[in-house]
This record gives sequence, C-alpha cells and structure tokens, in this order.
Amino acid sequence: MKYRIRAHHGMCFSFFQGKGYSGEFTENMWKMKERLAQNPEVVLLCRTDDVCAHCPNNHQGVCESVEKVADYDRQVLSLCGLKENDVLRWRDFEALVQQHILAAGRRESVCGGCEWNELCK
Ligand code: SF4
Repeated sequence: MKYRIRAHHGMCFSFFQGKGYSGEFTENMWKMKERLAQNPEVVLLCRTDDVCAHCPNNHQGVCESVEKVADYDRQVLSLCGLKENDVLRWRDFEALVQQHILAAGRRESVCGGCEWNELCK
C-alpha cells in the first residue's frame, strides 16, 4: 500500500497530539499514524492527500487554504531536496524533514502562519 502524503504533513505528524479540525479528522490522523509507523511507501504531493480526505476544509479535493498550504508543501520539498511525486519510505521522508527542517530550526519559517503553530513549539 502506498499512501498519498502532502509534503508539509511530514511536519504535522511529528507534533500531532490528538487535536484537529473535527472528530473524523482526528480519528483519521491516529489511523494514519499507525499506518505510517509500518514504514510504507509514500508519494509526496502538493495537493490534497490521505489526511485531507477526512478534513472539513477539503472541498471537493481542494483545501480552502490551497495557496498557503501548497506553499508549505513546496518549501518542505525544496528544503529536503525532493520534488512532487517522489516516492520513498515514510521513515526516510521523516528523517529528511527532521534533519533539514525540524532539527535545523526552520519549521516556523515554513509554517509559522498556521493556526496550529503554538502546538508545535
Ligand atoms: S486544512 Fe487543508 S491541507 Fe490541512 S488537512 Fe485540511 S484540507 Fe488538508
């Protein structure tokens, strides 16, 4: 099974604490965390993914903050030396995000404008 993951969600999973946009969204996040813990292949996207699929802000496949979140995705890919539609193992992607963004202190420069920013400090 290959999961569809938009690139900035590579950061969100590191900080997820059970809070989210709706009960359905949060339940799906826990399920996705379990699935990703099995280290499946993921295809990296700058559009709606398997997380967005259960989000109330997803309107017929388009996030209501489409420009803002696609910019987060593009920044994550660029900082990690990746491109859209790259396929890799989840843990390899997670390690790149950790190395190039989180441990490097770059997270807030990417997504500091997100409404969940305070949870990720
Ligand atoms: S807010 Fe947008 S990018 Fe975030 S999970 Fe919902 S639809 Fe996806």
